[in-house]
Amino acid sequence: MPKTIIVSNRLPVRIEKDPEGQLEFKNSEGGLATGLGSIYRQGENIWLGWPGAAIEEESQKKRVIQKLKEESMHPVFLSPDEVENFYLGFSNQTLWPAFHYFVQYIQYSDKYWEAYQRVNEKFAAEILSILEPGDTIWVHDYQLLLLPELLRKQHPECSIGFFNHIPFPSYEIFRMIPWRKELLNGMLGADYLAFHTYDDTRHFLSSCHRLAGIPYEGNQLKVGNRLVVVDALPMGIDYDKFEEVASENATIAHLDEFKKNIKSERVILSVDRLDYSKGIVKRLKTLDRFFAKYPEYIGKISLLLVVVPSRDQVPSYKALKEEVDEWVGRINGRYSTMDYSPIYYFYRSFPINELSAFYRLCDIAMITPLRDGMNLVCKEYIASRIHKKGVLILSEMAGAAKELSDAILVNPNNRDQMVESIHTALNMWEDEQEQRMEIMQRTLKTYNIFNWVNLFLSNLEQVKQQQKSGLIEKLVGKVRNAMHERYHKASKRLLFLDYDGTLVGFHENPEKSVPSKKLKSIIEKLTSDPKNTVFVVSGRDRLFLKKQMDEFNLRLVAEHGVWIENEDGTFTNRLKDGSADWKISVREIMTFYVDRTPGTFIEEKEHAMVWHYRKAESGLGEIRVRELSSHLKHFLTDKGLTVMNGNMIVEVKPKEVNKGQAVSFLSQQIAHDFVMAIGDDLTDEDMFEALEQEAYTIKVGPGNSAARFGLVDFKEVTSLLDELSKI
Ligand code: UDP
Repeated sequence: MPKTIIVSNRLPVRIEKDPEGQLEFKNSEGGLATGLGSIYRQGENIWLGWPGAAIEEESQKKRVIQKLKEESMHPVFLSPDEVENFYLGFSNQTLWPAFHYFVQYIQYSDKYWEAYQRVNEKFAAEILSILEPGDTIWVHDYQLLLLPELLRKQHPECSIGFFNHIPFPSYEIFRMIPWRKELLNGMLGADYLAFHTYDDTRHFLSSCHRLAGIPYEGNQLKVGNRLVVVDALPMGIDYDKFEEVASENATIAHLDEFKKNIKSERVILSVDRLDYSKGIVKRLKTLDRFFAKYPEYIGKISLLLVVVPSRDQVPSYKALKEEVDEWVGRINGRYSTMDYSPIYYFYRSFPINELSAFYRLCDIAMITPLRDGMNLVCKEYIASRIHKKGVLILSEMAGAAKELSDAILVNPNNRDQMVESIHTALNMWEDEQEQRMEIMQRTLKTYNIFNWVNLFLSNLEQVKQQQKSGLIEKLVGKVRNAMHERYHKASKRLLFLDYDGTLVGFHENPEKSVPSKKLKSIIEKLTSDPKNTVFVVSGRDRLFLKKQMDEFNLRLVAEHGVWIENEDGTFTNRLKDGSADWKISVREIMTFYVDRTPGTFIEEKEHAMVWHYRKAESGLGEIRVRELSSHLKHFLTDKGLTVMNGNMIVEVKPKEVNKGQAVSFLSQQIAHDFVMAIGDDLTDEDMFEALEQEAYTIKVGPGNSAARFGLVDFKEVTSLLDELSKI
């Protein structure tokens, strides 16, 4: 029975040593643990990760393994050095600041990077030790970006999903990381990658395109021959649990006690982990400015500030803690009286009933991170407002803002707007509070954590199905041997070979795409076999093809079938109307775009005009393609011309001919008992469709095709031709 393996840096368990050194196990109540609880405890499913504590004695490790096994978990032990360099180092001082746009805190350290690679490999080794065919692996978060590819290398068919819990930064930031390409390739080992927001998705796709040269269509990428789908899937909370806890007796008891002790009329809540991304200091400065602008509220409102300790060994966090302490001291020092405190400050973590009592107590929550992947606290606050009153002030930089547009949305860097948001919240009519709260509650109840887990896993499964259905049979093994045999037996073979992308690879300068020595010697052998009639069928012009192929005994089909070379070396033009006056106007249009787009140029053929944008700035080229295509469309009406969008080109040519008509004409003219056609792009599809069913039609590269078989790239074509030339 195939199983699901959940992998995250931390296991949903806390192991603590008591004073006697005995281990204590405490299950985590975090949102992710709750959501995945119903998954990882089922059947053979398992959750794999670091148990947190430094456990070095072998006997203790054994005990931990055994104990965790009973809970469907499997530990990956990290040494103190790995915690230092992989976790506190690369994860939290390189990736975390980069992904949250705090470029000033990014540490570029080879030592950290080496540890990151090592630990990702360690995780991979542990997974591989329990992985069986058919298993699904769900990898979580930024500590394990290399893991999907490490697993894919060992198990190419494996089903791998990846969820990034923190933001994915704009390409402009991501490209600063020296190991950006390795990180992207690592992530692209997954079949399905999801982020909290559409913007994260966009940034990821753009980085794949610009840094790894992988083009995308919509939210789909082709990595080698594998379909990869990228998605926005905002994580929810266990809504019902927070709603229920809010009315539990334990919560009410805490609530009564807090009410007794806090005398202020209104309380504003602030809950975050200690982190520079959370905007805690800016929030304190806002409160200070608020009291200066609206002194009538001094003595009436208080801020309940919960800061949960986190990463306090990292220098930037230590400095932040001091700054928070200072600001709390400054404001309390200035405005406190014997029976009034403007800020109630707690530097610790609270269990759920106390937290829930805070959520119930405070009629305003001010959650204003400078950047946050999602932010669950604001969602928990909404779910806990069972009487529907209360106002959420939410930073538009939090992923949650995309779902909670009925909060008061603020830019945390705009101090005046932040100050006014408090004033607005304090003065919002109860009717309006209820209206807004109801809409937000409905959203969060629907898009809850269980819904998120189910959607992720079913989307991953769908991608796997899609991968299977879109695949053309690879020309390997039995089918390849059968082809060799048919080729061997045949005495009159017809071979149609496309040029760019099939015989040679692509080059920024098309003139430089020329056959290698090795390929030349293979073509020499193939074409000197009297049983073979070889055609190079290309969109290129006659002159270029002639220059490359003149030494061989083969014939050319140039400009997508406009020209066919006869046996005596002369060419026949297959167009009924051979005039090309239309080129003057198309040249004019294309020149207009060349002038506006550095790196683009026009290639002129006898019966076609091509605009190349391979060297244009990535993104700008694509914008211009859309403009040029729509510009050309008006011009082309009734002129018997067609526009083709090819591999980084836009080509205008007569509608009347194509590669399909050319090969069908030739295969009718020339007697044969074996046909093979190889090509890589859209124009070659005409060729595949035009040929008889038994023909060996072979598509090079990813994508759907009318061809019967597939090869990965032009290098594989060279190998195939080499084999055939030796038969
Ligand atoms: N939390 C808690 N006790 C506290 C404060 C916070 O258990 O005293 C929990 C809170 O319920 C929430 C999580 O910590 O589920 C914080 O998640 P969030 O996404 O808001 O921030 P993160 O720390 O993941 O950046």
